[in-house]
Amino acid sequence: MAKNKKTAIEPTREDNYSEWYQQVIKAADLAENSDVRGCMVIKPWGYAIWENIQRILDTMFRETGHKNAYFPIFIPKSYFEKEAEHVEGFAKECAIVTHSRLENDGHGGLKVAGELTEPYIVRPTSETIIGASFAKWVNSYRDLPLLINQWANIVRWEMRTRLFLRTAEFLWQEGHTVHESYDDAMVETRKMLDVYSDFAERYLALPVIKGEKTDSERFPGAVSTYCIESMMQDKKALQSGTSHFLGQNFAKSSGIKFQNRAGEIEHAWTTSWGVSTRLIGALIMAHSDDNGLVLPPKVAPAHVALIPIYRNDEEKAAVLEFAHKIELQLKGLYLDEIKIYSEFDDRDLTSSERNWYWIKKGIPLRIEIGPRDVSGNSVMVARRDKDGRDKESIAIEDLTNYVVQTLANMQDNILNSALEFRSQNTIKIDDTKQFYDFYTPRNVAQPEIHGGFAVSHWCGESACEEQIKTDLKVTIRCIPFGDEYIEEGECIKCGKVSHKRVIFAKSY
Ligand SMILES: [Zn+2]
Repeated sequence: MAKNKKTAIEPTREDNYSEWYQQVIKAADLAENSDVRGCMVIKPWGYAIWENIQRILDTMFRETGHKNAYFPIFIPKSYFEKEAEHVEGFAKECAIVTHSRLENDGHGGLKVAGELTEPYIVRPTSETIIGASFAKWVNSYRDLPLLINQWANIVRWEMRTRLFLRTAEFLWQEGHTVHESYDDAMVETRKMLDVYSDFAERYLALPVIKGEKTDSERFPGAVSTYCIESMMQDKKALQSGTSHFLGQNFAKSSGIKFQNRAGEIEHAWTTSWGVSTRLIGALIMAHSDDNGLVLPPKVAPAHVALIPIYRNDEEKAAVLEFAHKIELQLKGLYLDEIKIYSEFDDRDLTSSERNWYWIKKGIPLRIEIGPRDVSGNSVMVARRDKDGRDKESIAIEDLTNYVVQTLANMQDNILNSALEFRSQNTIKIDDTKQFYDFYTPRNVAQPEIHGGFAVSHWCGESACEEQIKTDLKVTIRCIPFGDEYIEEGECIKCGKVSHKRVIFAKSY
């Protein structure tokens, strides 16, 4: 009988997935809750992941013709009111600035004063404030397309928050573009969705399903919303990025007009698209294990932990000299276009403590350097994707190649296991009872990990979607692209005719 293996993270994923998630973040020292309710402090190891995401995506945006700019964090309430559906969608989660000053309250404290004539909304998204600028910038078809991206922070007043997944303030990028025609704007919307899915798979090792949102999940004010959805290890879906085709809605409310090629004035067509620090939550939940964080090498803050081991001063001098030589040898290496970084860990801790520290932080490779390695001109290397005790002796002359190739190999492995996990937990369901069983845990009081992606028929009626959501907390994650989903069938809820399968799942 298998003995219960001790794990670095308790509880395990199986025992309590959501607590496991919090503990992985804590053990890897990625972020913590702040005293400001609902807001997080992103710590250096977590922020470095975000900076990597930012740097890679920024390059991809540039390569597709976009330029960065920055717009105010405050949006006048009157701007917001211009797009009715947009207001309704965000009204319940706005932070509003109503005063501009503090005054002595006469009791040793301060009171707010200087009430503003018009309140400002702290941006929950920037369509309206950016639209106001675009209205000034766009006059002629010659000004189009206008392709702008902003890196910023966003505030959405969430009551129930979770680090990286849902916080009152978070970091993101928002692309905003203006086009001459329906077609141009639609091409842009789909192009940026492709950029996101390409990024998710190539860098985050996160396989995604691309598709369109149903009316109920559409961005407030958009004509259509496209998304990438990924599967977490608790078999729930996480929306990892969205791209919105805004039609002429925001152009009309913001007054973005231009003289077209025929000399007539018409409203422009706009898009917006974004990903956020939520992607870090996706990374954690898709790849990590019961020993802590597992990072795809291409977004890891560092790739190699160098752990010198010695017992006395005599050994120390020789080992450190050798270890620094290796550090130097690894400098300037690249995994494709990604620079490989090492962390030199010579802290006064046992080698086991240092090893576990880096295992929990998800560093891809650990290199131990002891006296025997010095004399043997080799090192012991351990991979994060293998058992902690599984170490391989690598000769120094082979180390450079080994590191680069192993990191590339790990990047592929992480993607492949996520793909395999998703395909194991994605099933076609055509029977209503089977569908309901699929999403009903055996232990209702303390639900075990269950469900997955159900690829089922839907008639297109909101009522069926709504009923399933009420019954099971399961939603249509997207109407997926791809011919393989198009076929005649019967709606999983009402039995009426359906022309396409959609992706159902529980979600974050
Ligand atoms: Zn139906």
